[in-house]
This record gives sequence, structure tokens and C-alpha cells, in this order.
Amino acid sequence: MSKGIDNVLEIQEKYIEKLRDTVKRQSEEKGRPMTACVVTFGCQMNERDSEKLKGILKAAGYELTESEKADVVLYNTCTVRENADTRVFGRLGYLSTLKKKNEDMIIGLCGCMGQEPHIVEKLKKSYKFVDLIFGTFNVYKLAELLYAHITSGDSIIDVWEESEEFVELLPTERKYGFKSGVNIMYGCDNFCTYCIVPYVRGREKSRPVKDIVEEIEGLTDNGVVEVCLLGQNVNSYGKGLDGNVTFASLLREIEKIEGLKRIRFMTPHPKDLSDEVIDVMSKSEKICRHIHLPAQSGSSNILRKMNRNYTREDYLLLVEKIKKAMPDIAITTDLIVGFPGETEEDFEDTLSLVKEVGYSSAFTFQYSKRTGTPAATFDEQVPEDVIAERFNRLLDTVKESSGCNDNLTGRTMDVLVEGTNDKLEGYLSGRLSNNMLVHFKGDKDLIGKITDVHIDESKGFYYFGTIV
Ligand code: SF4
Repeated sequence: MSKGIDNVLEIQEKYIEKLRDTVKRQSEEKGRPMTACVVTFGCQMNERDSEKLKGILKAAGYELTESEKADVVLYNTCTVRENADTRVFGRLGYLSTLKKKNEDMIIGLCGCMGQEPHIVEKLKKSYKFVDLIFGTFNVYKLAELLYAHITSGDSIIDVWEESEEFVELLPTERKYGFKSGVNIMYGCDNFCTYCIVPYVRGREKSRPVKDIVEEIEGLTDNGVVEVCLLGQNVNSYGKGLDGNVTFASLLREIEKIEGLKRIRFMTPHPKDLSDEVIDVMSKSEKICRHIHLPAQSGSSNILRKMNRNYTREDYLLLVEKIKKAMPDIAITTDLIVGFPGETEEDFEDTLSLVKEVGYSSAFTFQYSKRTGTPAATFDEQVPEDVIAERFNRLLDTVKESSGCNDNLTGRTMDVLVEGTNDKLEGYLSGRLSNNMLVHFKGDKDLIGKITDVHIDESKGFYYFGTIV
């Protein structure tokens, strides 16, 4: 770990101690535990950041709760779509009513909305009851910011343009004991014309291989068997690091970690997925047979306007290479309908791409203008009713041409048991390497373990099975 990060960790641990004394005193005064709630909006990287926020709050003595009727409420926000912001402002209004009943309540907003100057201005002007505002680069400073607010009574705004340090090894409250997301890089340099992420998550920066390996070794020591490597564009991992470090070389290093059974990653960009990565995947015992490959559109005309830097033909060639190297791979994707300038012909290209690739599933989105992105100023905005009509046709096509790979029926496969099935008494649910769900009868002791399951039948988007 670099000297700089050791130092940062030391400082923050001191603030956690100071905060712990304060929380203890408040709890004694109120004659009850002090509670804290973290609400997460958005992507897996936000989920991972929220695990850190919860870890710091718990280490400082707060009792974590899902209820927003808590002494500290933090919104870890997403700003990918305009309506995401609107929804958060609505919920802040609700929090202000709770604060009227608990005047010591502390309300904080962090994450991607915190990185937007116009949103910070709006909060300062019209949401004065929000006590803490910070962004995506200094999540690890929560104890320091909370302590500063509690001791001064002032609202604290601490938003950074960027950060050199990756501070990951602070207390963490992980959602699952057997699997974990691991940040390998931050930021994105791709500037797709519909996307706000490069403006709120900054330029691409990769964590040193040594730090990532150390973190995963720590996780496997604590029972984690599956990791998901996280980054906005994991394929450009290594850019800016000394030596010839690539995503493929990182995967090779992580493959060596004992105790680790499965490796997943999110999100690769099709333009950067190298033959070397495909080769490493195909030869790997641990890298899962699932790849999320966002196409966004099936039309080269629209892909150019989106600044995706690949054509339909490039994308299909890549899919062909992946399937040739790993015939049992499951591919999922993201698709946007109604991007400015999209003609019926362009849309038909997206439908035919879905049929040609045969995705196991797809995340589908109706294009919506995002202030601050180039596409929001493009001419030829598609009327909403046209977008909605196309969206329904896309859903039908995805439903018809995607889902389970029937070839698995009758085979015995290893499944990571993730939990009990809420709908079926006595059933467990777990994921195959290709990320598809399987439901089967079994004992709760199996949760977190990889076990052999005979695939009895496919039900479209999941399987039923029997433990072997
Ligand atoms: S690759 Fe494109 S869509 Fe993905 S985060 Fe970067 S700019 Fe956004």
C-alpha cells in the first residue's frame, strides 16, 4: 500500500475514534443507540461505495437501519438520468419533514449528484436542511465530515474535481459474506454523447495491481469466493500505471489467488475488449462464463452519433470471437431506444442485432435527455410516443430471443448458492457461472458455497435443479 494511502487511512481512523466518542455520548444522553441509514441509488460502484459508508458509520458506533427515520441519513446518489435527480429531490423533501420531528437528525447527500455544480448550488439555495454534501472521490472521508458538522454545527460541502488516491481498505459493511465488488479503476475517458459519467466520475485512473490483489486476498481470507471487478470501462485498466499493465495481466494475477473460485467483471467497453482478454478468459478456471457487453444500438449510424467508436460489424465480429473462444458463454447487454436521429431503419438494426447475438438478457432504456451531455443539444430528438412504441417492440424481441441456454438442461453445473428463495418454501437460489439463476431444494447451510446442481428444466430466464 502506498505511503500516501497509509497516511490517509491513519487520519480517517482517528476521526472514526473521535466520532465514536461523540456518538457514545449522544447515545447515553438519548438513552438509546444512535442510528444511521444509507440509501443507495444507481450502479454497482455506488453499491460498493455504500458498503464503505456503512462500514465507517458502524465503526463509529451507529446502529445501521433500513429506516430513514434515523439520526443520520445518507443518500448515495446516481445522476445518469434526469429523472433520477428529480426523484432524489422529492425524497429529500420527505426527509425534511422527518427532521422537523428529530431536529438532531443529520442529512447527507453524496455520490454522482454531489459532483454536479448546478445541483450543489440548488441544494445550498433551496435545501438548507441538507447538512453534508460530498461527491464520489472522497467517500472515505465520511467520519471526518460528520465530525466536523457535529462539532461546528455548520453545513459541510466537500466536493472534489478528482483524486489521486484510491482509499479502499476502510471499515466495510459488505452486503454478502461470500461475494464482493472490488473497484479496479475510476472514471471514464470515452465521452459517449448521452452519458454524464465522465463529467461526474472524472478521468480514468487505475489502482495498482498490488493493492487490488492484496484487497482480494483479504476478502478470500474472510470467506469471499467470488469477486466482481468494477470500473466504468474495465478494459482500459492499466492506462497510466508503470510497466505494461493491462486488464488481461490483472486477470492473470487475480486468477492465482488461492481460495478465490470465481471472477466476474463489470463493465467492459466493446471497442477495448482485446483478443488477449478473450484468450485469458477462455483459458481461465475462475473467470465466469458471462460477459456484459453494452451495444447500446445495432445501427452504425447511431453508434457514430453516440461516439461509441465501433460499428455494428465490429461489435458482431467481437461477439463471434467471444463465442468461438467460449461456446458456453452468456452475453448480456445495454440498449438505448430513441437516441436523437434514430430512424425506423436504425431501430430495425437494433432489433436484428438482438436476434443475431442471442443475448441471455438485456437492460433496455428509453433515451432521455441528460442536461450537460452533448446529445441533449442534438437536433432530431425523437418524439416520446415513438420512443415508447419502439421500446415495447424491443422488449418483445428481447423476450423472444433471449433467456436460458437450453443446452444446459440435463447437465450438472456448479452453482454459487446466494440465498433462500422468497417465493418457494424450502428452496434456495444461486447463480451459474453464466450468471443465470437456478432454484433448487436445499439447506440454508449451503448459502455462500459453490455446489453441484443437476439442471432439470429451463423456465425462460431461470432454471430449476436438484442438488447432486
Ligand atoms: S463508456 Fe460511455 S456509457 Fe460507459 S460510462 Fe463511459 S461515457 Fe458513459
